[in-house]
Amino acid sequence: MALLQISEPGQSTAPHQHRLAVGIDLGTTNSLVATVRSGLADTLPDATGRHLLPSVVRYRDGADVIVGEAALAAAADDPLNTIASVKRLMGRGVDDVKTLGGVLPYDFAPGDGGMPRICTAAGLVSPVEVSAEILRTLKQRAEAALGGELSGAVITVPAYFDDSQRQATKDAGRLAGLTVLRLLNEPTAAAVAYGLDKKAEGVFAIYDLGGGTFDISILRLNRGVFEVLATAGDSALGGDDMDYAIAGWMLGQAGVDVATDLRAARRALRDARTAKHVLSESAEAAVQVVRADGTVWEGRLGCEQFAAIVDPIIERTVAPCKRALRDAGISASDIAEVVLVGGSTRMPRVRHRAELVFGRTPLADIDPDRVVAIGAAIQADILAGNKASDEMLLLDVIPLSLGIEIMGGMVEKVIVRNSTIPIAKAQDFTTFKDGQTAMAIHVVQGERELVSDCRSLARFELRGIPPMVAGAGRIRVTFQVDADGLLGVSAQEQTSGVESSVVVKPSYGLSDDEIERMLRDSIAYAQEDSVARDLREQQTEADRVLAAVENAVAADGATLLSAPEREEIDRALARLRSLRANANAAQIRDGIAVLDQATAEFAARRMNVGISKALSGHRLDEFS
Ligand code: ADP
Ligand code: MG
Repeated sequence: MALLQISEPGQSTAPHQHRLAVGIDLGTTNSLVATVRSGLADTLPDATGRHLLPSVVRYRDGADVIVGEAALAAAADDPLNTIASVKRLMGRGVDDVKTLGGVLPYDFAPGDGGMPRICTAAGLVSPVEVSAEILRTLKQRAEAALGGELSGAVITVPAYFDDSQRQATKDAGRLAGLTVLRLLNEPTAAAVAYGLDKKAEGVFAIYDLGGGTFDISILRLNRGVFEVLATAGDSALGGDDMDYAIAGWMLGQAGVDVATDLRAARRALRDARTAKHVLSESAEAAVQVVRADGTVWEGRLGCEQFAAIVDPIIERTVAPCKRALRDAGISASDIAEVVLVGGSTRMPRVRHRAELVFGRTPLADIDPDRVVAIGAAIQADILAGNKASDEMLLLDVIPLSLGIEIMGGMVEKVIVRNSTIPIAKAQDFTTFKDGQTAMAIHVVQGERELVSDCRSLARFELRGIPPMVAGAGRIRVTFQVDADGLLGVSAQEQTSGVESSVVVKPSYGLSDDEIERMLRDSIAYAQEDSVARDLREQQTEADRVLAAVENAVAADGATLLSAPEREEIDRALARLRSLRANANAAQIRDGIAVLDQATAEFAARRMNVGISKALSGHRLDEFS
């Protein structure tokens, strides 16, 4: 399995040999570089004293590439050659980019199904190349400040970046001439910056609202190691959206049509951002729009209007927070600390909303712009071998989800990918048929919904299950992955205690390329898979219901049903059989509902006469 290296680069270096290592926050909007000097981590400024490097790259015909502030300043005048928010394009396919095209006003070269390329005055450039320009600029800044060549860098990524996005980030690092020691999750970096890893234990929420992404992560610290309990967020939500909304309001007030006056729109966007920053400190901001004909609209943006524009955007951070808490299996009151990250958390309205969600005042002592880079620098310092090895944060993860096959050829994931190891997880499954005495357990690995699209790892059988009504048997399947990546799976019937197990090597024969391909496929087919899964689920449910009703009618139909009742049930059965063979998931679901309705009274009667094989009450969720 693709475990992260246990022996880190530079680990064996003698301690007196200090290596120059940096942490880089490669942001959607701004990027920073930080390092540890004399035991203190801080961000490095450029020659003019600025720490934040706008993540903007401008390409020119026959001239050098410009990165940062100067490129940002030219964005309004040269929008097509000035690439901003390139992080949103990292690791994305041409098709994803089409949807982003409305937001990012670049000319994309007609795709060949691969990486998107942007047409600029200097030719076609890929998102990886654009990011590499930003990284190269930060590398030069660091080398000038530190007076030597860098031995390595830790680059941060959003916690829920998928594998192709991570790979693209790594490629950009290599292209910039950096040795990428590790990609580090942004929330983990923020937690490290606050020294939360020095605490004994605790559960922390990292609320990161930047320019282009919102990330909420629930981390648990356990004996010096951070475990990501849950992450949620929105990869297309951030301060940019507020800028667009404010600019939209301004242009509306000025009566400017965005489609016909792109230049005014670009300028309004910059002014909108400035106004937003002003409103983090003041109650009102002056705004203006310069129209194509040179005339100017001037106005004021007050608190109330501002709230009306940005609150709906801020509100979109709440549902992911709740989802993350739910996924982590905790409530807000279990959170020991809330850490604010990202420039947008400077906004009082954002702070207030975060405080409301978690019911506690968030930590915000460290500049929310710099906190991620600082944490990355601390980690880089350790990985470069400048610290004792017992201070290392080592998180080994499962590269692909592990699960078992359930009815209908579908996969039920038991341990999801990126879970840290060692890990053990148990899940209960039920018997499917009346009197079932054996269960075949098929262990698979992969991200797809259907078994046929995943990799088969092992099969074994659990025998000796006492005969029971369908759905009554409880089989607990336990997956355990040890520190060496060995997977053990055991199955135990809960009433009788009969047990069976197998040991497998989860990634046996799986190369990094294959892992990569499987992940890409899982992303590409996610939509298709969920439709297929829904259909399979409904077909499986239909089979179960049909069999159960047929058995019940055969057993008790003669004594418990009147002739008209019997006819109605037969009609519903016939309809469901035909839908099962030909229809889509929604239609089958409807067929099941109609049959359920037709048999409700019959089921109640059967129960009343003390027949334990109750027809109702078995729902699909018993299988998960
Ligand atoms: P990213 O991680 O996406 O690069 P940052 O953490 O650098 O983003 O945050 C950039 C966002 O923060 C921008 O949308 C910017 O407008 C916003 N921002 C920065 N300072 C302030 C402020 N004082 N008030 C409101 N928003 C701010
Ligand atoms: Mg950020």
